[in-house]
Amino acid sequence: MLRDFFIGLSQNQFLNSAAKKYGLKMGAQSVVAGTNIPEVIKSIKELNAQGISCTVDNLGEFVFKKEEATEAKDQILQVIEAIHENKVDAHISLKPTQLGLDIEYDFCLNNLREIVHRANEYGIFINFDMEDYGHLQPSFDLLDELSREYDNVGTVIQAYFYNAQENLEKYKNYRLRIVKGAYKEPEEYAYQDKKDIDNNFIKLIEWHLLNGKFTSIATHDHRVINHVKEFVKKNDIPNDKFEFQMLYGFRKDLQLKLASEGYNFCTYVPFGNDWYGYFMRRLAERPQNLNLVAKQVFNKKTNTMIGLAASAFVLGRMTKNGKKKR
Ligand SMILES: Cc1cc2nc3c(=O)[nH]c(=O)nc-3n(C[C@H](O)[C@H](O)[C@H](O)COP(=O)(O)OP(=O)(O)OC[C@H]3O[C@@H](n4cnc5c(N)ncnc54)[C@H](O)[C@@H]3O)c2cc1C
Repeated sequence: MLRDFFIGLSQNQFLNSAAKKYGLKMGAQSVVAGTNIPEVIKSIKELNAQGISCTVDNLGEFVFKKEEATEAKDQILQVIEAIHENKVDAHISLKPTQLGLDIEYDFCLNNLREIVHRANEYGIFINFDMEDYGHLQPSFDLLDELSREYDNVGTVIQAYFYNAQENLEKYKNYRLRIVKGAYKEPEEYAYQDKKDIDNNFIKLIEWHLLNGKFTSIATHDHRVINHVKEFVKKNDIPNDKFEFQMLYGFRKDLQLKLASEGYNFCTYVPFGNDWYGYFMRRLAERPQNLNLVAKQVFNKKTNTMIGLAASAFVLGRMTKNGKKKR
């Protein structure tokens, strides 16, 4: 119920635009690394200095206008230039919907091609983040098309999907990030039980470590991390075949510890004003994350917003006709 609540909030476009207005004034900087390129480069340099590489996400959601998608593309191109000019250890994570997947497939493909082409000139990797089930196949299609021309692309496998193993095998020769999955998905396509998701997550990670090109294990779950450490040792899997990934601002001590133990570590660094949906999904995953940011993020203004949204959400649940929202 609490998870549904926060996922409901993450999809609320009114609250999304309201949050944008406040920028990072509400203190979301503990999980968002700045609003502009100089700020994010500064954060990357700090992480690099601690032996941590970065994947940069120029935050953006609910893109339904071509101008917005073009603007997002231009911003990502600028981030690529900044990574190159500053010689920082970083690559890009992006969401196909931000580049226009909900507007027109070919328009999105062309935007992505421009980004992947420029990044390829500088040897920068581009990861296609995976969103909800409705965008899964189109995102793989985009990857298929672009990987015919470029090899600096990869994507994400979400362990809650029944077809995750099938996609893992199909894309085993790509650099893949494996995650549990962040969206609300129906039983028709995805495991609902945490235990089933966790078991599948481990199974996929092990399979890709043994058979895949390069595995990014993206989790804050210390049990999974400890399991992977044992597994790679037992199976003589060299450190250059995998890395751990976590989100900026989460479990910083563990991030540093893993890096200092000699594991490749990559922090997912989101930046920009459009932090709201991203942040709500983090709360949906783990309401205790509220502790991390409660003091800074939740002031009178946000509490009112959340209160309004809670009422809307409850009303919505009472009136909805049984159709589940993802
Ligand atoms: C780098 C990165 C990229 C991602 N990209 C995508 C993507 O493209 N698409 C997508 O759908 N999802 C993505 N996700 C989100 C992912 O799918 C999960 O929703 C998210 O990571 C939560 O699951 P978890 O594995 O971290 O552990 P959880 O299942 O949330 O937690 C398991 C256990 O770990 C411990 N734990 C977790 N968080 C903390 C914390 N902050 N402090 C202390 N203990 C903690 C607790 O004991 C908890 O019970 C990404 C996640 C990361 C880290």
